[in-house]
Amino acid sequence: MSDNNHVMMQYFHWYTPSDGSLWKQVEEKAEELAAVGISALWLPPAYKGNSGGLDMGYGVYDLFDLGEFDQKGSVRTKYGTKDEYIRAIEIAHEFGINIYADVVFNHKMGADQAEDVEATPMSMNDRYQSLGDRQTIQAWTNFTFPGRKGKYSTLEWHWWHFSAIDYNSYDDQPDTIYLFQDKSFNDNVDLEHGNYDYLMGCDIDIQHPEVQGELKYWGEWYYDTTKIDGFRFDAVKHVSGNFFAEWLEHMRYHAKADLFAVGEYWSYEIEALHNFVTLTQGKVSLFDVPLQRNFHLASQQSENYDLSQIFEGTLTQGQSTLAVTFVGNQDTQPLQSLESVVESWFKPLAYALILLREAGYPCIFYPDYYGAHYKDYGKDGNEYEIWMDSYQWLLDKFLFVRKTYAYGDQYDYFDHPNTIGWTRLGTEECPGGIAVVLSNSGDGWKSMETGSPKTTYTDITEHIKETITTDDRGWAEFRCNGGSVSVWVPQG
Ligand code: CA
Repeated sequence: MSDNNHVMMQYFHWYTPSDGSLWKQVEEKAEELAAVGISALWLPPAYKGNSGGLDMGYGVYDLFDLGEFDQKGSVRTKYGTKDEYIRAIEIAHEFGINIYADVVFNHKMGADQAEDVEATPMSMNDRYQSLGDRQTIQAWTNFTFPGRKGKYSTLEWHWWHFSAIDYNSYDDQPDTIYLFQDKSFNDNVDLEHGNYDYLMGCDIDIQHPEVQGELKYWGEWYYDTTKIDGFRFDAVKHVSGNFFAEWLEHMRYHAKADLFAVGEYWSYEIEALHNFVTLTQGKVSLFDVPLQRNFHLASQQSENYDLSQIFEGTLTQGQSTLAVTFVGNQDTQPLQSLESVVESWFKPLAYALILLREAGYPCIFYPDYYGAHYKDYGKDGNEYEIWMDSYQWLLDKFLFVRKTYAYGDQYDYFDHPNTIGWTRLGTEECPGGIAVVLSNSGDGWKSMETGSPKTTYTDITEHIKETITTDDRGWAEFRCNGGSVSVWVPQG
């Protein structure tokens, strides 16, 4: 994707309002997003969750209810109705924006009825350690979807479609997972806690033939209904990795299109990410979680962080064609579960590093573009009020540079712990190139080659007002202010 300088936007965050307006907003904003250079939107799960109109979508209840049936206390989802979702996708397509659907295959929540099932209690912290004998438990595992009445699919889900649950309504024990009779945790998952198949809710047994058949059938139905262009797979480290490749191949065959897919594998262990890439035969991109971690650390450690190492241990460095680069998401934002905040001063630097370089498929996070303001409770139990700043002015400039100038060979000058830079030399169609300098300490400067002799450059960020002109070999000393980034483009 990076060949054509595509850019994705994650078009929601944890605190997106529950007023059912998001799909309408996509429809309203599609034209201006396309105009500034956004080529794809990752939209949140569009199906009904356990908390109905309030559910972010990750508490999946019914994959076939896209805001159409009166279930879980609401017809619409948190983001709108099925018709509004389909309409938003149609409008986005009119402006050339692709839509990626959020797909959760790990779990379901909010069963309609309980069932008796034989299960063995296992330790939450060591998934191979049994805590007692097999026993009869009462598990909420029967999904009958009474509001949908068998429309689109007649399959009712029962305990045998799942592997385990964390709640026994007869006699619940803390920190316990109940592994159902004749089931084992799935292989090819993350190795934390011994085996990280189980995350939450009713854990789907992805090996069960009826489950595999239903998920493939659902994929066909979803594509035919919505005409989406790709997928974002949720929580992939908790599901047998090979199934994603199998399902994606099935979908590409059905759609007769090279549908895009990116997985959320939340791990700082680069080997775990490479292992998933191998399992999925390089068909599924991954969010570059280690790079986001580096941004977080760099933003906290300021001048003590060695900027020349910013891409060390990342997917962008080792597997750049499969790396989706990002600065924040709904789990890393302030007060959320994987809180890994990139401090405000560093965000322009981080976005320059993902938007203006050759490697990676960049993803802009909604609140970094529009800003956000919310209140919630932290892990310490206190309530906090959060303002996330809007960087729209700067991001629009970066998007313009990406679209107009960020082409051709890239020369890196990652030769100093506090000031790094790079140039793009441009191409015949898009001449001039760019020069980028960033510093996490005092004012920075870097002698770099642009390939364009006697050419005058201006800093599109307006941080530095003076112009810089290259010599007759195409070199110049480019500058930036302390703790800042400057992006030098040919004077118009
Ligand atoms: Ca699982």
